[in-house]
Formats: sequence, structure tokens, C-alpha cells
Amino acid sequence: MPIGVMFFLMAAFVVAVIYFTKAAVLQLEQQVDADVFKVKESYLGIIRQKDEQAAEKERLQEATRRIYNLYDLMRELTKAADVAEAFGIFKEHLHRELVVEDCQLVEHSPKDLAKFPSFKDYRFFPLKAKKMVLGELAYKGGQVDEEAFTILAQQFALALRRIRLCKELEDMAITDGLTHLHTRRYLMERFQEEFQRARLKGLALSMLMIDVDFFKRINDQNGHLAGDLVLREVGRFITQHTREIDITGRYGGEEFCVILPDTDKTGALVAAERIRAAVQAGRVLANDAELCVTVSIGVATFAEDAQQMEELLDKADWALYRAKKNGRNRVMGFKV
Ligand code: GH3
Ligand code: MG
Ligand code: MG
Repeated sequence: MPIGVMFFLMAAFVVAVIYFTKAAVLQLEQQVDADVFKVKESYLGIIRQKDEQAAEKERLQEATRRIYNLYDLMRELTKAADVAEAFGIFKEHLHRELVVEDCQLVEHSPKDLAKFPSFKDYRFFPLKAKKMVLGELAYKGGQVDEEAFTILAQQFALALRRIRLCKELEDMAITDGLTHLHTRRYLMERFQEEFQRARLKGLALSMLMIDVDFFKRINDQNGHLAGDLVLREVGRFITQHTREIDITGRYGGEEFCVILPDTDKTGALVAAERIRAAVQAGRVLANDAELCVTVSIGVATFAEDAQQMEELLDKADWALYRAKKNGRNRVMGFKV
């Protein structure tokens, strides 16, 4: 074979070998690329899944934190004794949870209603419990999460209702329904406190026993409704002519009692006379007729008349008995 042909064949062989080798390498590279792509895809899938799980975990943690905060709010609200304390607790939790610039409680009292014009740019949330509107929350802030705000505000509305109901019950237990003076039970509780205080601090303490004169006759001649009106009016005169610190109450039927802290016999006699004169001068109209109402008052003082609580009561009662005996419409002190 001529040498030229041999060279040509060899060269062709080498070219063929290079060509097929390159093709095989290319195919191998493509295979590797495809495998790498697959691995990369599944790796990215795992990363995505991990991110989703992390986001879910964060969401659950946030929900748990909110539930815990809500539980905390409910727990603290049940301990609140008055509206101001409950609102303080609510506001603290509100600011912890949401971005709220300001939040104010508007109860529907005349004083609060007058505040309404000043609530420019505020939104209002009606505090409802059993379809009754107890008041409003006036609030403002950039982007308040309304749903979260509603959940917190509803807890406060429940607390507000509980506190109001407790207050009403408390008031009912210590207030006489007819005269709106304190009940005998409350009066006696306060008497005990004041008596202990007077004894401890060495202060005087006086007691007035007040009884409406000829009340049976007023009832008989004018009817029980007129009698009730007389009791209400006498209660009003007593309240009007006593000091803030004095404790007034309806002791029984047509008998009233006033406890005068830090008051000696002389002061108590002056106070009793003021009440007696006010009742006598007061006009009580029933069935278009002006009723003539007077009271008799017995006065006793700790420590000069009695050393014990019951004794002081008895002495005031005894003084009242003497006032009746001596002609009624008068003030009598024990021993005076
Ligand atoms: P005295 O001047 O001695 O105190 O005579 P009095 O008539 O006021 O005294 P008495 O104790 O005999 O009468 C009290 C009357 O008060 C008897 C009772 O029917 C009446 N009474 C008691 N509670 C009420 C009440 O809540 N409403 C009315 N309308 N009457 C009452
Ligand atoms: Mg009586
Ligand atoms: Mg009487």
C-alpha cells in the first residue's frame, strides 16, 4: 500500500476516534448535567419545604403567644375590682399586642358623652354584653388589626359587665329600696368599724336614733303610699343635713340612725337639732295636702355614755324614748 494512503487511513482513524470520544464525553456531560439538575431540584424542594415548615412554626408560635396573652388578659380581668383597674389591664395588653396610638373608654354617662366631639379621627368600638351597650372604646392608630382588637375588646366588655353587675348587687345589699339610705346591716357593720377606730384613737363617737312621730296616724289618715313618701322625704332631709363622713341608715320601719364619727355630745346635739328642725320645716305633699311631719331624736356618745357598742345603741334608744315621753318633736341626749 502506498505510504500516502496509509497516512490518510491513519489520519481518518485518529479523527474518527477523536470524534467518537468527544461525542461520548458530550453525552456523558449531558447526563451528568441532568443528574446535577435533578439533585439541585430536589435540594431546592427540601429547602422550600424547610422554609414552609419554619413559617408554619412561626405562625403557630404567634398564635400560641396570642392565645396565651388572651388567657392572661382574661385571668387578670377577672381579678379587677373596678372599671378603672380593668381598663388599665386591657390597655396594657392592647399595647403589648397591637400598634394603637390611643384608646379611651367612653361610658355613656353625661360627663363622658360631652367628650365625644374631642374624638376627631378616632374609631369607635361598642362594648356590648347581652345586646346591651355598656359604653364605647374610642381608639386610633395607623393600621390596627381589627380582628385582634375585637377579640381583646370583647374580653374587656365581659369584665365591664361583671364589674357593673357586682356593683349593682353590692349597692342593692347596702341600700334600702324605699329611702335609698343604707340598710341596717351596712349601718351596723360601719358602726362596728367606727367604734373600734374611736376606741383605738381615743376619739368621741355619737349616735342619733331618729323616729317619726305619730307615723301610724300618718299611715292611717293618708294611706301607706303617703306614709312611704314621708319616709323617703325624712331620709332625704337627714342626708341633706349630715356631713359626708356621717353614716346614715334606715334602722327599721320608721326609725333612722346616724353615726357621727369624731363627734362629742355637744356636736351631736347640734347635728340632731339641725335634722329635727329641717324635718319640721320641710314640706311633704301627699294627695294635694301638706303633711305635718316631725321626728324625735335620741343622742348618745362614746365614751361618756357607754363603753360598749350595744350599750351605746341602748342609750341612744333610751334617749329617744325620753324624747317621746317629753312630748315628741324634740332632741334628747342621754343624761342631758
Ligand atoms: P310614735 O310617735 O310613738 O313613734 O308613734 P308611731 O305611730 O310613729 O309609732 P308606731 O311604732 O306605733 O308605728 C310605726 C308604724 O310604722 C307602724 C307600721 O305600720 C309603720 N311602718 C313601718 N314600716 C313602714 C313602711 O315601710 N311604710 C309605711 N307606710 N309604714 C311603715
Ligand atoms: Mg318606731
Ligand atoms: Mg314613730
